[in-house]
Amino acid sequence: METIVLKFGGSSLADAAQIRKAADIIRSDRARRYVVCSAPGKRSSGDVKVTDLLYRCQEAVQNGGDLAEPLGLIENRFAEIVAALELDFDLAGELEVFEEKLRAGAGRAYVASRGEYLNSKLIAAYLGFPFVDAADCVVFDAEGVLDAEETNRRLFTVLSPMERAVIPGFYGVGPDGEIVTFSRGGSDVTGALVARAVSASLYENWTDVSGMLAADPRIVENPRRIDYISYQELRELTYMGFSVFHEDAVFPCQRAGIPINIRNTNAPADPGTMIVASLPRILPPRTITGVAGHKGFTSIQVEKALMNAEIGFGATLLQIFADHGVSFEHCPTGIDTMSVICFSSYLEGCKNELMDDIRRKLHPDAVLAEEHLALIAVVGHGMSYSRGVAAAIFSAVGEAGINIRMIDQGSSELNIIIAVEEKDMENAIRAIYKKLTERKVTNG
Ligand code: ASP
Repeated sequence: METIVLKFGGSSLADAAQIRKAADIIRSDRARRYVVCSAPGKRSSGDVKVTDLLYRCQEAVQNGGDLAEPLGLIENRFAEIVAALELDFDLAGELEVFEEKLRAGAGRAYVASRGEYLNSKLIAAYLGFPFVDAADCVVFDAEGVLDAEETNRRLFTVLSPMERAVIPGFYGVGPDGEIVTFSRGGSDVTGALVARAVSASLYENWTDVSGMLAADPRIVENPRRIDYISYQELRELTYMGFSVFHEDAVFPCQRAGIPINIRNTNAPADPGTMIVASLPRILPPRTITGVAGHKGFTSIQVEKALMNAEIGFGATLLQIFADHGVSFEHCPTGIDTMSVICFSSYLEGCKNELMDDIRRKLHPDAVLAEEHLALIAVVGHGMSYSRGVAAAIFSAVGEAGINIRMIDQGSSELNIIIAVEEKDMENAIRAIYKKLTERKVTNG
C-alpha cells in the first residue's frame, strides 16, 4: 500500500473545528497513515500559540511570575477541544501531571513539548489511531543535535508494524532521558524524519496557505504560486528567508527522494506546492522559480595590487574569519580585490579586531567594511537554459535607479545573487520580479 505521512501545523490544529478539517483530510485517503501534529497554534491574528503560553509558564515558575494566567489559558484551550470533539479523555489527569512537573522545576524543553504531546493524544483519540510518543523514537545527542540514524532506526522499528499512528512533532529525547526540542517550527522536521523512516511515497505538510509564492507578498503584489520547486531551489530560497517550511526538514526527504507537498488545510482541494528532486519535463518553461531578499549583511573588502599572484592570499583571508568564529556567505573576487560577505550580527564585537588582523597578516592597500547590505537571490533551474537572465536582472535594477554593490552566480547556475543597500531591497525585488515574470523564456 502507498504510504503518506502528514504533518499538520499549529493553525491547522488550533481548535476543534480545525481538527475536524484535518481528520476529514486524513480519512479521505487510506494511504494517509502516519500523522505528525503541532501544538494548537493561533486561532486568529491576535491569538497566542499554546507553545508560547507553555514557555510563559516555565518562565513564570523560574522567575516567580504569574503562572495562573498562562496555565489557565492552556487548560481552556485543551478543555474546549475535548468538549467540542466529545472525547473520552482524562484531561484533568494529564494536566495534573504536567502542573506537578512544572512546579517542580521541569526544563524548558519538557514544558514546551507538552503542547504537541497533549494535542497529539487528543487527535489520536479522535481519529481512533494509536499514539506514539516522540520521546521513544526521536533521539538527540548530549549536545542537543539530532541523531538522525538512531532516530531512523527507532521510528522504523516502532512504526513499520503499525498500520496507522499519531506522533507529536517538535521534540525527542536526549541521552539522559530528558526531553529535547528542535528549534521553533520543528514539527516539520519530525514529519520528514517519519516520512524517511517509513519510506513514504509522499510527505504532506498541511498549513494555512495553498503552497509557496514566488516572492514575498508583502513586497510583490499578488505573486505567482509555485507549483513545483526542487529541493535545491527551496534550499536557496529558504536560506534567503522563505519561511513556509523548516529548513532542516528538507534534508531527510531529499536524501530518501520523498516528494513534499505543501497543502492548505482550509482549502484541501488546492494542489499546493510540490517539492521534488527534479522538475517534471512537462512543465511550461519558466525563467525563475522565486526571488527573495535578506537584510543585515556586511561586506569586508580587501584591495592589494598584484593580489592574484600572491599564493595563499585567499586562504589566509578566510582563515582570519574562521579564527574569529565568523562564517562567510559569499566571497566575490577581482584580480586585485576580494570581498567577504557575512551576516553583520556575526561581526558584532569582533569587526575591528578582524580588520586589524587582515592588515597585519596580509598588508593590503586598503580594507573597508560596507554595512547595511541586503542580498537578493534570484533562483531557478530555468536560468541555466535561458539566455539574458543576468542582463534582465541588471537592467531591472538599473532602471529602478538602484546601485548593485555585488554580483555572485552560483556554479550550478541555479541562482544569481546581488547585493544592494538595505533601503533599496524591496524596490529591487519588485523590479526584478516584474521584469523576469513578464519576460518570454528563450532557450539557449
Ligand atoms: N509548536 C512549535 C512552535 O510553535 C513547533 C511547531 O509548531 O512546529 O514552534
